[in-house]
Amino acid sequence: MSDLIRPPRGTFDILPEQAPMRRAVVETARATLEDAGYRRIETPAFEVTELFTRTVGEATDIVQKEMYTFNDGKGRSLTLRPEVTAPVMRAYLDHGMHKLPQPVRLWYASSCWRYERAQKGRYRQFWQIGAEAIGSDDPAVDAESIALLAGILSELGVGGLELRIASLGDPAAREAYREVLRDHLRASEGELSDEVRSRLETNPMRAFDSDHEGTREVMKSAPLLADFLGEEDREHFAEVLGLLDAAGIAYEVDPTLVRGLDYYTRTVFEFTSAALGAQSGVGGGGRYDGLAGQIGGPAVPGMGWAAGVERILLAAEERPEPEPVTTLYVATADESPATRRAAFALVCEARRAGITAQMELAGRSLKGQRKQSDRIGARFTAIVEGETIVLEDREDGESWDEESRSAAVASVLRERGLG
Ligand code: AMP
Repeated sequence: MSDLIRPPRGTFDILPEQAPMRRAVVETARATLEDAGYRRIETPAFEVTELFTRTVGEATDIVQKEMYTFNDGKGRSLTLRPEVTAPVMRAYLDHGMHKLPQPVRLWYASSCWRYERAQKGRYRQFWQIGAEAIGSDDPAVDAESIALLAGILSELGVGGLELRIASLGDPAAREAYREVLRDHLRASEGELSDEVRSRLETNPMRAFDSDHEGTREVMKSAPLLADFLGEEDREHFAEVLGLLDAAGIAYEVDPTLVRGLDYYTRTVFEFTSAALGAQSGVGGGGRYDGLAGQIGGPAVPGMGWAAGVERILLAAEERPEPEPVTTLYVATADESPATRRAAFALVCEARRAGITAQMELAGRSLKGQRKQSDRIGARFTAIVEGETIVLEDREDGESWDEESRSAAVASVLRERGLG
């Protein structure tokens, strides 16, 4: 099949055997978050490009090289969402959710697209589960949000988890700090990687993320943002840490933690898993008190996170799911229209009665149909021949004639407690 058209690089099919584990991830997130007052939201797969350039940030990797951007028929620039926080905030503002009791808590399970170097754990279309709590700047919102993600990951058996946390302060503190950091980098410009040097003006903090040896050396003596935070930001951060302590959630304060999106203020955090290779980030997020303003709304504080479904699956325990059970298999003894119609009526009748049923669709012989019924583990096999239905029960080995309409079969099953 060398001519077969393949899917684009960095994308993948989700096969039936993979569906149950994925469902378990989304279901665990749903149950945990909805129990805590979050409600599901789903935003469009694509948005106006400006939503991301203004919020994620012009100088970030995502905006500079990873977005799938295209023009629609009228020449408007649209972008497949590379992340979901900005769309959720847009929806919050668009639908007047500030009029609801605050904070408004929303969760999602959505696909995202980023044109990244594809490798294990890093794809060009991937899924995120995420949670956003919008409308409160209480440090307890930060701590609760982090605790909920910790709970989801541990319930799913994600191994070797570590939590790193930092505070980015407010934009003014960050800008003052950036200037000092730029000076530090400029002083050793010759030792930096080309990439860091080219972003020295626009995004100097990315130098903390570099694995270039010379850059790492220069960063060892770099000034830290933590020393530039204002009094209120420091208090906020101390309170978040105190709440995490109270909840028994272990963390490491990492003042070099840089998240690849510009909209963060104050708290940022990331969970990594030792069970993953190079792409060790399982999920992360932070506070984004300036995001609403960047979208053109009033100042509304917010806090949230996103975790990658594929990364969770790579790091989580295997949990085999039971195969779905079919109760009734409807076989046909001949191919006459009368028999086929009676069989079809029976399947529909059984389903209406709430009995899981399948019928023969592949033209197998009667022997082949019995085998198929075995294969799917159906307890009952109905053999239809014209008006006659013979119902066999695998469990008591008994079989009997039922010269009646298909409804009778459904009622027999119901009598046996299967309806
Ligand atoms: P971010 O929005 O970059 O903070 O990403 C949040 C989470 O999404 C990460 O911790 C990963 O688990 C996941 N993620 C981000 N980018 C990718 C990708 N290209 N492929 C798979 N998962 C990703």
